[in-house]
Amino acid sequence: MKTPPFNLFQPKSIDEAVSLSAKFVENNEQFDWIAGGTDLLPNYKWHLNTKPNVISLASIEELYHLNSTHIGAMVRLHDLANSKETHPIIKKAASSIASVLIRQSGTVGGNIALDTRCFWFNQAEEWRRSIEWCHKCDCDTSADCRVIPNQNELCVATYQADLAPSLLVLNAKIHLCGPEGSRNMLLSEFFELDGIKRNILKPGEIITHITLDDDVNSWSGDYQKLSLRKSWDFPEAGVAVAWKNDDELKLRIATTALESIPRLHEDITNEALLNNFSINEIASKLRKDVKPVNNTAFPPNYRKKMVEVLCKKALHGLKGVLS
Ligand SMILES: Cc1cc2nc3c(=O)[nH]c(=O)nc-3n(C[C@H](O)[C@H](O)[C@H](O)COP(=O)(O)OP(=O)(O)OC[C@H]3O[C@@H](n4cnc5c(N)ncnc54)[C@H](O)[C@@H]3O)c2cc1C
Ligand code: SF4
Repeated sequence: MKTPPFNLFQPKSIDEAVSLSAKFVENNEQFDWIAGGTDLLPNYKWHLNTKPNVISLASIEELYHLNSTHIGAMVRLHDLANSKETHPIIKKAASSIASVLIRQSGTVGGNIALDTRCFWFNQAEEWRRSIEWCHKCDCDTSADCRVIPNQNELCVATYQADLAPSLLVLNAKIHLCGPEGSRNMLLSEFFELDGIKRNILKPGEIITHITLDDDVNSWSGDYQKLSLRKSWDFPEAGVAVAWKNDDELKLRIATTALESIPRLHEDITNEALLNNFSINEIASKLRKDVKPVNNTAFPPNYRKKMVEVLCKKALHGLKGVLS
């Protein structure tokens, strides 16, 4: 299938990129940002919600900065996985993504803003035509959702990117810049429970970078991933945990690939610390808390069961501290 034609823009600074996007927004012209293109271009080839204009972030030097507390949006996943500055939990998550070749092009910003996935949606155009489309790419037919049928308002496509949970458990902040200026927030406030909208980015806004707290290196933890094959495949479930054990134990747990957003499970960790839960009890609570739907390779019940297994594995380093 051929990639449809589009106009490509290559700004050299954040200011230039944002003034370009502001013009598109003002003129009501549609466009997409492109970083490494490892997800956007395959989607374009399948004619999934293509736009006539594409703004590349590849020539913006300011977005490539990387140190232990600052990760630029254009940092390549390969560089993130191989840098001595990268926290071990993020390193493990980054190394698990796709393949070496894809990690050399794929970026941090593209991974965080990754489109949600669904087996009724990530298909060739002819295949989708044969099922008469779905709500996320309905080709002006007002088609229903195939997962939650008889409605075309809700999309529950799954967020299947690996980096977010490792950043969430390290209390990452995300920094955005757009026509209305710059803003930042906790990464946990960035995602929006809507398989089409996905996050709170406003029209014309980009992710510029991620920052981590100064004490990030005093946190330990792990990332565990379930996928069809060990390399190349998107996560079917992912669990990140981080803990700091000085005066009192602090614990964070986040999941990905189970819902339309990656999620911090603060209620579970608060309850666990208050009641001295064992590792098995925490893992069992996590299994009950996630709500996968039937739209990825593995069935939802299996993914729920595996979340418990992944959580126990990820908490292994706390054996002796937790029973
Ligand atoms: C075979 C295959 C296997 C894969 N396996 C995995 C996997 O195991 N785990 C995983 O997490 N991913 C996987 N991916 C998905 C993808 O390669 C990665 O998520 C990658 O990090 C995407 O980054 P990119 O720079 O290529 O994004 P792009 O494709 O350029 O963009 C992705 C989306 O992000 C938006 N975007 C990009 N940068 C910004 C920014 N700075 N601000 C705002 N929006 C932005 C784009 O508009 C687009 O909507 C896989 C892809 C393929 C093809
Ligand atoms: S969840 Fe429904 S609307 Fe969303 S991509 Fe899947 S079938 Fe389409």
